[in-house]
Amino acid sequence: MYNHELTVIEMKCAVFDLFSSKIDELSMEEMLHECKRMFMSHFEIMNADILLYDNNRFIPLIEGKIMGNGSKSRTTKDYPIVNISLLAHTGDINEDSLIIRDNRLNPLAALIFTATDKWHSFAESPYLKDVKKVLGTFVGQVVKVHQLSDNESMYRRLFEVTEHFNSTMDSDVIIEEMMRAVLKSFSGYEVQLLLSQEYNDKTKGYRLFDYVNERASAVDAFLSGDLTIEKNAEDLNGILMNAAIGGRQGTYGVLQIVAVNGTDFTATQKNFIKLITNVAGSALENANLYEQSYRLVSDLQLVDETSKELNSNLDIEDMYDYLDVQFRNAFSPDEMAFVTIQGEAVDSIALTSNTSFFKQEEGLKVVENILSRLQNGEDSIFDVNSKSDEEISGFTSLVALPITNNVNMIGFVILLHKDDSFSFDNFKLLRSLIGHSSLAISNVMLRDQLQDLVNKDNLTKLFTRTYFDQYVASSIENGESGIFLLMDIDDFKLVNDTFGHYIGDIVLQQMASFISLKLDGIGFASRWGGEEIAIFLPNVSFESGVEFAQLLVKEIPAITEPSVTVSIGMGEWLPNEGTSFNELFQSIDKALYQAKGNGKNQFIIHGVASANGLC
Ligand code: GH3
Ligand code: MG
Ligand code: MG
Repeated sequence: MYNHELTVIEMKCAVFDLFSSKIDELSMEEMLHECKRMFMSHFEIMNADILLYDNNRFIPLIEGKIMGNGSKSRTTKDYPIVNISLLAHTGDINEDSLIIRDNRLNPLAALIFTATDKWHSFAESPYLKDVKKVLGTFVGQVVKVHQLSDNESMYRRLFEVTEHFNSTMDSDVIIEEMMRAVLKSFSGYEVQLLLSQEYNDKTKGYRLFDYVNERASAVDAFLSGDLTIEKNAEDLNGILMNAAIGGRQGTYGVLQIVAVNGTDFTATQKNFIKLITNVAGSALENANLYEQSYRLVSDLQLVDETSKELNSNLDIEDMYDYLDVQFRNAFSPDEMAFVTIQGEAVDSIALTSNTSFFKQEEGLKVVENILSRLQNGEDSIFDVNSKSDEEISGFTSLVALPITNNVNMIGFVILLHKDDSFSFDNFKLLRSLIGHSSLAISNVMLRDQLQDLVNKDNLTKLFTRTYFDQYVASSIENGESGIFLLMDIDDFKLVNDTFGHYIGDIVLQQMASFISLKLDGIGFASRWGGEEIAIFLPNVSFESGVEFAQLLVKEIPAITEPSVTVSIGMGEWLPNEGTSFNELFQSIDKALYQAKGNGKNQFIIHGVASANGLC
């Protein structure tokens, strides 16, 4: 027969001994294993396991560790957690198990064992409740003491991390510190960080939160800003915890931790994750706000500087040059084009050599496409990383914004990037810059148009005689040489009489636009009289002047409809020759008169008696 009373007394002594001598030395798991061994020896039990109750679950313990630490090599039997959790509610029915409870009968741990005769006999004796009480007190104390020290080290770690967070405004550092603390507490777990936006360098290793394809439990956590647990995540072979990294204004990411099948997260672990993600969320928010305000200040400086510069009386080309430089510095586009719209026509100005893309067919197509999108009501275009209709090979981001006066779109700017580095913040800055530049650009365009109204002849768009005189006078003052041509249409009265004045006007326009085209950059034409045109080619050689006169005499009959011929008088202005400009012009007029007398459709050079350029 067994002496159960003695067993109880011996167990009490052993438990007291164990607690008083080892509590500072051993971990909680080790203490519970010691307790299990003591229980086994008193009841001659050969096989036993001890499980810890935590958060509605019994968690199997292996030597030195809780199974919930994510270790995949399990050394104890695989206890299906759900079945064991039932034990907590069904009492001690199973004779191979003993639930250890505190004095309020809340479960603390469970012993599972192969019962022996001694145990059977003891279990039926009135001493069973004494042993339960002894074990309950012991386990309760062990758990309490270790929870306190666990909590203490957890809070210390949190405190250290928080201190770090508060001393930095760098999102990278915050994310790095958070991950270091989490990995330290969850060594062996699978930990993944999903971020809702890209930060700088160090965060490149983490994945971006994908709103469409993320697991439902992760999206739940993200939206609620809370912690979610996904059980039975079969593809993960475990339980998934999602913790939102959130602040007061938003959620900045989700931290995911997987506990392998058969284990669970303890309440302490969940608490730790909740706290650290909250602290990190607030710190990230502060850092973001700081970065934003810093950026905002430098953005405002840029906007201010730009509008000051643009309003300082630049001409339109200088203005676009200036914007080109500013945009390149601020946004580093791979390709960029400023496009001006004149009426219905599109006049694309590619300002620098690396916008050569826009001079090619593909680039021009992009320009046309953007124009039609903007004209069809889109107020801006921000295609970043999107598979839009107009996929442009080699580029992943397309941004375009219109430049408007108060009424109409007067142009637009297109920026292309080869990666998706064009952020929405950059887009807002660009919009602000364009907004501030639009007024200055449209003012300059209006000023230029007004100037043109004064300086140019309305019918032919050639310069007026007054303007021409001023221009020539300043050229001459600057000591420039040049070629002068005075041209008159032959028998123009006849054209008017035959086809009417209206057709005569069209012939004048045809001729004027042809001359302007040919003069592009090399000279200057003005409507001198009714159908007389004066041309000045500054710093041009005599030979080039002759060539130009020949070209006009030859080509004008071809480009006019009805065809007309012209007569030209030509002269060369050389500084320091002693003749006045008026004298020179009188001679050129004489040469023209001579050309008429010689049968028209030719040019005569002043001072060269027999030279005529009869075509
Ligand atoms: P010539 O070969 O001698 O130059 O003969 P012409 O008929 O061209 O004679 P002239 O140069 O003296 O005549 C100028 C004519 O050009 C007179 C006028 O009817 C016409 N003319 C001048 N200005 C305009 C204009 O703005 N529009 C039109 N349609 N005709 C003009
Ligand atoms: Mg004439
Ligand atoms: Mg005339």
